[in-house]
Parts: sequence; C-alpha cells; structure tokens
Amino acid sequence: MEKHPAQVSIKPQALNVVWFKKDLRTFDHAPLFHATCGRPAIGLFIIEPEWLCSPEFDSSHYVFLEESLRDLGDELRKLGVPLLIRVGEAVEILNSLHQSIGIHELFSHEETGLRWTYDRDLRVKKFTKASGIPWREFRQFGVIRALKSRDSWLKLRDATLVRKLFLPRGQEWPKHPGNLPSRIPSLRELNLSASEKRHAQKGGRFQAERCLDSFLSSRSRNYSASISSPTKSASGCSRLSPYLAWGNLSISEVLMKLFRKKEALGSSSDDLWWKRNLESFESRLAWHCHFIQKFESEPEIEFQNMNRSFDGMRETEFNEEYFEAWCKGETGFPIIDASMRSLKVNGWINFRMRAALMSFASYQLWLHWRRPAQFLAKHFVDFEPGIHFSQVQMQSGVTGINTIRIYSPKKQAIDQDPGGEFIKRYCPELSSLSPEDLAEPDLTPPLLAASLGFEPGITYPKPIVDPDESYSAAKQKIFDWMNRPSVRTEAKQVYEKHGSRSRQNRRM
Ligand SMILES: Cc1cc2nc3c(=O)[nH]c(=O)nc-3n(C[C@H](O)[C@H](O)[C@H](O)COP(=O)(O)OP(=O)(O)OC[C@H]3O[C@@H](n4cnc5c(N)ncnc54)[C@H](O)[C@@H]3O)c2cc1C
Repeated sequence: MEKHPAQVSIKPQALNVVWFKKDLRTFDHAPLFHATCGRPAIGLFIIEPEWLCSPEFDSSHYVFLEESLRDLGDELRKLGVPLLIRVGEAVEILNSLHQSIGIHELFSHEETGLRWTYDRDLRVKKFTKASGIPWREFRQFGVIRALKSRDSWLKLRDATLVRKLFLPRGQEWPKHPGNLPSRIPSLRELNLSASEKRHAQKGGRFQAERCLDSFLSSRSRNYSASISSPTKSASGCSRLSPYLAWGNLSISEVLMKLFRKKEALGSSSDDLWWKRNLESFESRLAWHCHFIQKFESEPEIEFQNMNRSFDGMRETEFNEEYFEAWCKGETGFPIIDASMRSLKVNGWINFRMRAALMSFASYQLWLHWRRPAQFLAKHFVDFEPGIHFSQVQMQSGVTGINTIRIYSPKKQAIDQDPGGEFIKRYCPELSSLSPEDLAEPDLTPPLLAASLGFEPGITYPKPIVDPDESYSAAKQKIFDWMNRPSVRTEAKQVYEKHGSRSRQNRRM
C-alpha cells in the first residue's frame, strides 16, 4: 500500500525513529526524550490497514487522529524533529524506511492494545531482531508488563506514574528534513466515510490542555454531584478520556497538575469541598491503569469470559432483533435509547449510562457481551481496549468477582434525568410527554397519549421486552450461574490475578 518517496536519502548517519502510536504528544514522552539524545531523530506514525478494517474502527477515530497528528507535527517541527506519516503494514513501512534512510534505533511506548496490535508487535520484534535494530519500549501508563503478582502492582504503578516528567528537547539537523515529505491523508483518500459524530470532542494537544485546564480551574468543583447525570456530566466530568486514550496527555502530567491544584486550595469550606471533589476524581483516574492492567495481564478477555466458568451462559441465545433495536436506540426504554442516540452523535457518554447500556444488553436482552462491546468501542471516541473489555465483562457479570448490577431503566430515568431534559433531547418523539410519563411512555393513559399526539408502537417503539419479566429472568439466571461451584472456584483465581488490593475498591 505504501509508496515510499524515492527521494528519501539521508544516509550516511542512520536515524533514531520514534514510532508514535496512541501517545500523540511531545511532552512527557519518554521515547522521544531518549531518541533525541545525541543522534538525529524522526517521528513516525503508521496508519495501519488492519486498524482501518477492524470492527472497532469508526471514521470519528480517524478524525480525532488527524487533529492530533496536526498538533503533533507542529510541536515536533518546533523541536526540529520531522514527522513522517505513512499508510501500510508496520513491518513493510519500517523495512522501507530502514532501506532508504537506515534506522539506528526504534523507540516507542508499550501498547496494551487489541489482538491485531499484539500480533503486529510480534512481527515488528522479529523484523527488528533480524535487522539488528534495537527496539526500546517504554511504559506509558502505570501498567506493568509481565506483572508477577497483583499484590505488588499498586507500588509499581505509583513508582511509574509519580516521577519527574520528560521535557521535550530540540535538535539541530545538519540538513533541513524537507526531503521527508509527509501529509495526513484525508478520509476520502483512505476510502473512509465521513464521521457521523457531529459533536465529538476535537483531538490534539491544544484541545487536551484546554480541557485539563478548564477542568482543574473550575469544572471540577462539583465533580461528584455531576458524574451520574447524563446532562451534568458533559461538563462536570473531566472529559479527559479521549486525550488519555490517544495520548495527547500523559497520566503523569495530569496527576502532577492535579496535585498542584489540591495544594493550592486553602482551608475555607469552599476549598475543602472542592478538594474532596478533586479526590473523588483522583480515585476514578486510578481506575484507568487498574483496568488496563487486567487487559495487559490477560489479553484473551478481548474474546473470552474473564471467568471461563461462565462459558455457555449466553452464547446460544443471541437475539438479533434485540441487538438491532439496542444499536439503533429503539428499544422502547427511553433512557437506554437516549443514551445510545446521544453516544452516536457525541462519541462519548458518561460512565453510568455506559454501564446502563451494557447492563441492559446483557441482562434484560440477555445478549452475549462480545458484539455489544464491539459496537460501543466503535462509537467511543475514547475507546481504550484495556478499560473497555474489562468494564464490559464487569457490567455483564462474567468476572465472578464484581457485584452484579442489573440497572432498572425506569429507575435510571427517574434518578438521573428527573426533568426528562436528556430523554427529550435525544428522543424528540417523546417531547410532548410530562417528566412523570417519560420513564415508561407506553403506560401513558391512552386518551392523554392521543391528545399529545403520542402513539406507542407508532411514534415511539413499545418496550421490546417486558421490564419486570426480563429483569426477574435475568436475575434468576445470573445468580444460578454465580452459585455454581466452578464459577466460585474460578472467581478466586480471577481475584488473585486481577482483583484490586486497595481497601476501597475490593470488588473491582
Ligand atoms: C461498558 C463501559 C465501557 C467503557 N469503555 C471505556 C473506554 O473505552 N475508554 C475509556 O476511557 N473509558 C471507558 N469506560 C470508563 C468510563 O466510563 C470513562 O472513562 C469515562 O466516562 C470518561 O469520561 P471522563 O474522562 O469525563 O471521566 P472522569 O470521570 O472525568 O474520569 C477521568 C478519567 O479516569 C478514568 N476513568 C474514569 N472512570 C473509569 C472507569 N470506570 N474505569 C476505568 N477508568 C476510568 C478515565 O481515564 C477517565 O478519562 C467504560 C465504562 C463502561 C461502563
């Protein structure tokens, strides 16, 4: 796929190559820091066909990447480091680069990614070994490769994250790197459709810094009270997730700024209140690496139940019609439909609604988690495999170590959207109903419904499953499975391998 420009010839001095993946920044970037020490370095980003073809891919991910690469290119240019952008299979690109300019050393962050990235890394390892190119990989999160025991993880994580940050440094090039042409291909050039996410967060370092600053300087004040509401969370949560997932920000720099902010607060009641909210944010942020560590330690959970004794529980019962209705946001359960429709235009939704979507698919619809997980991954601009698959398995009850939570869509609508603002915004066909009728619109008295122009089953779907029956049936089934001796025995092993050792989060 890749046509390497013939004019690239910078020999005789082979270059250090910084292979950027989901770490699109120059600040606190260990591979860049080490690569720019004593030898000319270039940055490389490879747009891989395997990524573009993966079921988790969406054009909105590419748009975010494009925006991030633009900022990254600008930042690198200021440092005198050119950024090469290439389309093709990683080994082919690296090989062609090695043939034309010579790679002295390859630098990158460790990636805890989907199976295809793992397989690709194995091929790259083979290639670098055969070509005599040292490949130096650095940790980017508090995620420990080849971790021996979860008991030691917290200490190792803290030592990895709380440290001096890597400042980018400039380099002098003997010749201007104008002969390394680079351009970010457009969606159209890659045969990708336009993104449908009209209100997705914008990518790039500039936006990431703005988001972090606005959160720490004001939005974090009422963090705890905002996180569960689908409307309040849009500004009350940090909204850092895509910037962490794509590496526009490093976790360590977020932590350092957070610590500084906490220190700057005084002892007035307002400041103490704010500090408590920041601490609540800090404990959520800690989940980031906790969940990715599970995936790093057991990447099979992309495909398999974390607790294999649940195998067979949902595999044979997949109902395509339910799945389709869930994907379209047409289940007849307003809070579920509004969440799905909102996700499709924004590329983001808060934790509680992600959990509610996954729980509804897993319990009331009794769908196996794998296809709903892929569908959500595609629509999350912040898709982070390690968090995603661990959370999906937790919400669908197949770990054996987490509390079973079957969310009631009615209760979630009443608790989290009491005025119906969110539901009405994303399900406008329900906008004539009063907030009391929004949780279960099909129960609106017929005469009233007719006077409001609302026709259940015509203007908005009737519930695709009976709320009470589906809830009770799911509860019965999941607890029957939970009580199996094989599930309990395996749960001990799952806890040993993945369970949180922190006292507050025993069941995570
Ligand atoms: C089914 C399901 C799938 C999920 N998939 C993803 C995903 O692909 N990518 C992703 O970043 N998050 C995922 N989450 C976790 C969480 O919903 C998001 O991190 C959060 O909503 C992002 O918004 P925020 O940055 O404003 O969060 P904030 O509440 O401001 O949290 C700050 C950061 O802490 C971390 N964090 C917060 N909550 C969690 C959590 N429950 N688990 C792990 N890390 C957390 C994230 O890095 C987040 O950006 C998923 C949750 C569920 C239930």
